Amino acid sequence: MINIYNGSLDKTITVDRIIFEKKGSKKEPTVVFFACVHGNETAGVFALKEVLDQLNESQINGSIYAIVGNLKALEANQRYIDEDLNRIWTKFKINQINTKHKLSSEEKEQKEIFQILERIIGEHSGPLYFIDLHTTSSKTLPFITINDALINRKFSKLFPVPIVLGIEEYLEGPMLSYINELGYVSIGFESGQHDEVDAVLNAIAFINLTLVYSGVMIKEAISNLEDYYNRLINESKGTDDLFEVVYLYTIKEGETFAMRPGFKNFEKINKKTPLATRNNQPIISNFNARIFMPLYQSKGKDGFFIIRKIRPIFLKLSASLRALKADRLLVLLPGVSWENKDERTLQVNLKTARFLTKPLFHLLGYRNKHINKDYMKLYNREWISKTNMYKNEKWFKR
Ligand SMILES: [Zn+2]
Repeated sequence: MINIYNGSLDKTITVDRIIFEKKGSKKEPTVVFFACVHGNETAGVFALKEVLDQLNESQINGSIYAIVGNLKALEANQRYIDEDLNRIWTKFKINQINTKHKLSSEEKEQKEIFQILERIIGEHSGPLYFIDLHTTSSKTLPFITINDALINRKFSKLFPVPIVLGIEEYLEGPMLSYINELGYVSIGFESGQHDEVDAVLNAIAFINLTLVYSGVMIKEAISNLEDYYNRLINESKGTDDLFEVVYLYTIKEGETFAMRPGFKNFEKINKKTPLATRNNQPIISNFNARIFMPLYQSKGKDGFFIIRKIRPIFLKLSASLRALKADRLLVLLPGVSWENKDERTLQVNLKTARFLTKPLFHLLGYRNKHINKDYMKLYNREWISKTNMYKNEKWFKR
């Protein structure tokens, strides 16, 4: 048990790894909430405590779990102790945690979380929903991040907030990417700036809506549901578009990086806008787009992202093409071959297939992960989705 303090609420609570657990029958829906995967982001834990402790357990039609991510870092009120817990969920690293002799502070946390996840997944066969609650160092509208699978898109669209997809192409080892690769709906919700009261209130709204949308609670069991929905509309200033990540500035080892002060998340930027400095030299934007997650804290390697709005026509087209499994035709193109057909992994020869652009692959549900100067390896997001698990849910049929 550890005590944690939230400055904006001026409140201390006591938590353990598992904040809440209520197990229903195997086939009913299950929602798994995570908070504090980053130890300095306490809003999610406070929000979960607030909502879940007040539920009338006899009204729960399914299972709810709430789990703390990085306990040691939370106790120290830091993003992490040795390494970022949200960057070590690659298959390679997960295989290692059982055989390695000396584990980092975060690998120990990962090992415990991994065992809890295995247990939950093993015990439930109904639709599973994984929600990861975060906050940001800059001022922000509340928003959702997802890997680009149709099940994630559809479930996310229920919430009146902006959605950013495709971040998985730029990050190595976030926990939600790992869970998404197992085929489940997995959604990251960033509720606001670290120490603002609004970050807690937005998370409370999001948690309540998730309980209803997943079917774990009936609408009538949650009072003020409409207020929660309206709160998110107001807080996101009516923006509920889908955006795609087009660029990440990664901070190199030993480099002195500083964002220019005052950027708000989602703020519009132009070509030539000075964004930050690297070793006192300016970093200038090459995009007419929007800045995303500018880094205003000392820990972390992701300096800033750049995102662009996805046109609705592109979204419709990609949904239809993916439903038709049109990706099978890609291998007819020169320079494109199956790296592993069973796993729907493509290998693209960058010399012969130069003319093919990333948007084409994105359209068909592929995201690249490994790239060297000759080849690019792409994974299909749809192929691995457990779509059958969700196809009878109300939100899926909308
Ligand atoms: Zn975070």
